[in-house]
Amino acid sequence: MKIAIGCDHGGLDVKNQSKNYLENDGHTVIDLGTNSAESTDYPQYAVKAARLVIAKEVDCAVLVCTTGIGMCITANRFSGVRAALCTTVNDAVMTRKHNNANTLVLKGTTESAEVEKLVEAFISTEFSSEERHARRVCQMERSGRLAETAHLAAYDPEVNATVIGQIEQEDATINLIASENTVSRAVREASGSVLTNKYAEGYPGKRWYSGCDPVDRAEELAISRAKELFGCDHVNVQPHCGSAANMAVYFAVLEPGDKILSMSLDQGGHLTHGSPVNFSGRLFDIIPYCVSQKTEILDYEELKELAVQSRPRLIVAGASAYPRILDFARFREIADACGAMLMVDMAHIAGLVAGGVHPSPVPYAEFVTTTTHKTLRGPRGGMILCRDEFAKTIDKTVFPGLQGGPLENIIAAKAVCFKEASQPEFKAYSAQVVANSKALAATLAERGLKIVSGGTDNHLMLVNVAAGGLTGKDAAAALDAAGIVCNKNTIPFDQKSPFVTSGIRIGTPSITTRGMQEAEMTLVGNWIADILSDISNAELQKSVRNQVAELTTRFPVP
Ligand SMILES: *Cc1c(COP(=O)(O)O)cnc(C)c1O
Repeated sequence: MKIAIGCDHGGLDVKNQSKNYLENDGHTVIDLGTNSAESTDYPQYAVKAARLVIAKEVDCAVLVCTTGIGMCITANRFSGVRAALCTTVNDAVMTRKHNNANTLVLKGTTESAEVEKLVEAFISTEFSSEERHARRVCQMERSGRLAETAHLAAYDPEVNATVIGQIEQEDATINLIASENTVSRAVREASGSVLTNKYAEGYPGKRWYSGCDPVDRAEELAISRAKELFGCDHVNVQPHCGSAANMAVYFAVLEPGDKILSMSLDQGGHLTHGSPVNFSGRLFDIIPYCVSQKTEILDYEELKELAVQSRPRLIVAGASAYPRILDFARFREIADACGAMLMVDMAHIAGLVAGGVHPSPVPYAEFVTTTTHKTLRGPRGGMILCRDEFAKTIDKTVFPGLQGGPLENIIAAKAVCFKEASQPEFKAYSAQVVANSKALAATLAERGLKIVSGGTDNHLMLVNVAAGGLTGKDAAAALDAAGIVCNKNTIPFDQKSPFVTSGIRIGTPSITTRGMQEAEMTLVGNWIADILSDISNAELQKSVRNQVAELTTRFPVP
C-alpha cells in the first residue's frame, strides 16, 4: 500500500515508529513531516494528507498529534476523508469495517508497544461487505454534499431550501432533459470559488484592472485546454452563455439586415437562430431551412438549392433537437457554393465532438460556438472557436462589444471541464451516451412509439406522441408525475403550438453521467411506454415513481 504519514512536534515519536513499521512491512510511505521536535502547527500536515487521500494518490493516511484531536478535526473537514482517532485495536478494526475509514489518527501519547498493533489492525482490516455499512458510509458522504451549503443554510434557509430541493430532485428522478448534465464536484468547486470576486475586463495579460494574475492563469488554462481539445486556432472562453456566443459571431461579421440561413425553430433550431422574439430574428433577415418531410432528416441537396437561391451571408448549422449526425463537409460545400460563411453551433453535441463520437465541425467552419454545460458537462456558459483571421474581431466583439467583466470562476470551471473532457474516461462516457440513446430509442420503438427520423445517432431523440393521440405537454406532465423528467418539444412540421407540441425530447447525457447503461435504458424505456399508454393512470405513475426511486439510489449523483 501507499500511505501518507504526518505529525506535529507532539506526535514525532509515534509517527516515526509507525513509519518504520510500515516500511518494514513493505509499504511505500510518503512522509509529510514534521521531522523535528520544534513546535509546529498541526493543520498543515492534516491538510496535505487529506489532499493526497482525496486525489487517491495514497491508499490511506496516518496522522499524529498530542491528543490526535486537532489532526482528526482538520482531516475530517475534507469531504471524502474519513479520519478516525483510535486508541484501541478494537477501534481501528471497527472503524475500518464499519466506517471504511481512510485515515488513522493516533495520539502522540500512545504506548510504543501499542503503535504497531494499531497501525497493523487498521491497514489489514477490510471494509465490511454488508449492505447496511455501505449504505451508512454513502449517507456520510452525502452529508458532505449537504455541508457544502451549511453557511447558506444558517444565513438564508429559504435559498438553501431551493438548493436542497435541487439535490433531492436530482437524487430521486431520472433526468432525460437533453440539454442538461450533472457536473463533477471539481467543476462545482471552481464555479463556486473566490474567483467570482475578481473584475477582469479585458484578456489575460491585457486587463483594465490590477491584481489579475490568478484569473489570468485560470483563463489561459481554459484557452489552451480548449484549443487542444478541439484542435482550433483561437478560442474565446468569455461568453456568459451560448446565446451570447452566437450574438458575438453575428455582431462580429454581419450588419443588421444581413441574411442568415438557419434551421427552422420548430424543427430543432435555437432561439438565437432567428426566432422573431429573439434579437436574432429582430435584427437579421432569417431564411429558415427544414428537414425532409419524408425522412425527417436534413436533405443537403434541397438545402444547397435554397442557399444558392437566397445567397445568405452566414449559414448556421446546429440545433437543439436534431437526432442525427450533421454533415459539416456538406455544409462547407454549400456555404462555398453560395459565398457564405459557416457558423456551427455545436451547443448540444460539443461533448460528443470532444469524445470523438460525432465528427468535428472545426475543420469546416469559420466559427464554432457552443455552450459548455450540455454534453460537454461543464459549468453553465458559452465559448467561441474560430480561425486566426477572426480572432481579433471576435475578441473585440465579446469585450468591450457585448460584455463587461468575465465570470472568471466559471472560466476556471470551464478549464476543469476541458481537462475532464480530454481524458479517456470522457471518450468512454460519450460513447456510452450514444449507446444509451440508441438503446432507449430501440426500446421505445419496440413498444410502438414513433421516433422522429426513425432513430438517433447522438444523445437525444424526439418522440412523436401525437401518433398515439397525445400532446407533448400532457405526455411530459404524466412522465414528470412518475419521476421521469423530460420536455415537450415541437417535431418537424408540427401541427400544434410550441406550448402544446406533438412531441417530447429525450436525452441521455445526465443519466449516463450517473453510470446507467443499456440495461437501465430498457427499464426506463418500458416505464415511459407504460406511462404514455395510459397517461391519466395516477396509480401507475405512483408505482413507476417508486421504481424510479429504487433505481436512482443505485446510481448516486456525483
Ligand atoms: C442551448 C443552446 C444555445 C444557447 O444556450 P444558452 O446558454 O441557454 O444561451 C444555443 N444554441 C443551441 C443550438 C442550443 O441548443
